[in-house]
Amino acid sequence: MSDIEEHRKKIEEITLEMIKLLKTRTDVAKQIGDAKASLGMTVTDEEREDALRNQVTKLCKEIDLDQSTALKFLNLLLNESVKVQSDNKQTHLSMFLKAKALEEEGKKIIHLEVGEPDSNPPEEVATALEKVYDKGYGKYGPAKGTTELRKALAERTECEFENIMVCPGARFAVYLAITTLLNPGDEIIVIEPAWPAYKDCALNAGIKVRTIKTTLETKWEPSVDQINNAINENTKMIVLNYPNNPTGKILPKKLLDSIIQTAKEHDLYVLSDEIYEKYSGHRTKEEWKVKPSKSILTYGYEKSIIAKSFSKSYAMTGYRIGWTIAEPSIIEKMSKLQALSLTNVSEPIQYVALHALKADENTEDVPIIERIENWLDSLVRTAKDIGLEFIEPDGAMYLFAKTKYNNFDATKFSEKLLEHGVAIAPGEGFGDYKEFFRITAINETRLMEGMTILDTVLKELYE
Ligand code: PMP
Repeated sequence: MSDIEEHRKKIEEITLEMIKLLKTRTDVAKQIGDAKASLGMTVTDEEREDALRNQVTKLCKEIDLDQSTALKFLNLLLNESVKVQSDNKQTHLSMFLKAKALEEEGKKIIHLEVGEPDSNPPEEVATALEKVYDKGYGKYGPAKGTTELRKALAERTECEFENIMVCPGARFAVYLAITTLLNPGDEIIVIEPAWPAYKDCALNAGIKVRTIKTTLETKWEPSVDQINNAINENTKMIVLNYPNNPTGKILPKKLLDSIIQTAKEHDLYVLSDEIYEKYSGHRTKEEWKVKPSKSILTYGYEKSIIAKSFSKSYAMTGYRIGWTIAEPSIIEKMSKLQALSLTNVSEPIQYVALHALKADENTEDVPIIERIENWLDSLVRTAKDIGLEFIEPDGAMYLFAKTKYNNFDATKFSEKLLEHGVAIAPGEGFGDYKEFFRITAINETRLMEGMTILDTVLKELYE
């Protein structure tokens, strides 16, 4: 056998051996996952991960192996463990699917778990839908979106046309940003509680997630120290989502300034999910502070990516349309994957979205946003009346609350409540928040009915 053949044989043997070891490692990770679940422990233990990272670094020095390759490999292994251990978590989506299955059996369900405006899109959308066929829209188009829509969005956000790309929802913008700007083994910082997709997109792309846990006691505010402590040489991106899903929090301006400053110092991408931006700063009632949310766009930081959507602002969740704002070089990278995976966003829907923007000028109808704010007001008042514990949301459309009962398990409570016809989102879907649950502000009549049932079931179970 020639030398090269001999070496190739050896490579094959080593690779197959590594795959067998991966199988053993995954099986053990599953066992640890079961043990953690029965002990009520969280999936990710960053202290343990860091201890292992230190051991790997030490070993690399001893055996003279490139540390960055080894650490990327380690991140892939850690991600696999997180994936196999996260399988049985209840999220707002899994509750929604359970609720839907019950509805199909004929049960009546009040949906307080989904993040969807309980409203129709504006009239302008209906008119545009009627016209779109005759207008002849329905062909393939540019991957970044139609010129008309990109221009209109650029004008509204005071950006250049080249900074805009239309996407099928903010979710896809988040996916594109994480998948195209980061590489396997890179790290991303997610501030929890958080919408689960940031973490899931990263896990899917082999990117290590560093979570920063915020608490009700510290008003859901991360500290700059927490962020600095989470940054290492592999950190490439931080995700921000304010107004926040699930807490409704908007960060104080000074704190946001410091976070952006930190991101700049470490040359991090800032992925800012601003889909609830319009749901803030409109309240005029005395009990609400007027607190408009500040867009990351105002910082002019060239490594920021902003995700926006028609889903919430125009009650168009099922139309699947949103957009992203970033530097043209970033847009270029993201649009390549968009072109590869879906060619372009449906042209008729882009036409409809363009007309939805016109609803902002129509003041005759009560805007969707005002309606949701009123529902959120009612939700806050009722939640106070029944003794839930929470920080009043500054924006968005949710309440993230816990109860006064010790060792309260929100996942078990959510399952019990669903038997009584009310669906809520368990906190564990947003991070290590097993005692919390999220309630969506919906139409007052259904909301009140749902909250009355919630209160009754809570008392029946815990008093
Ligand atoms: N970001 C956040 C914070 C969300 O809550 C949601 C939907 N619930 C999305 C993005 C997804 O938005 P879209 O419908 O535009 O994909």
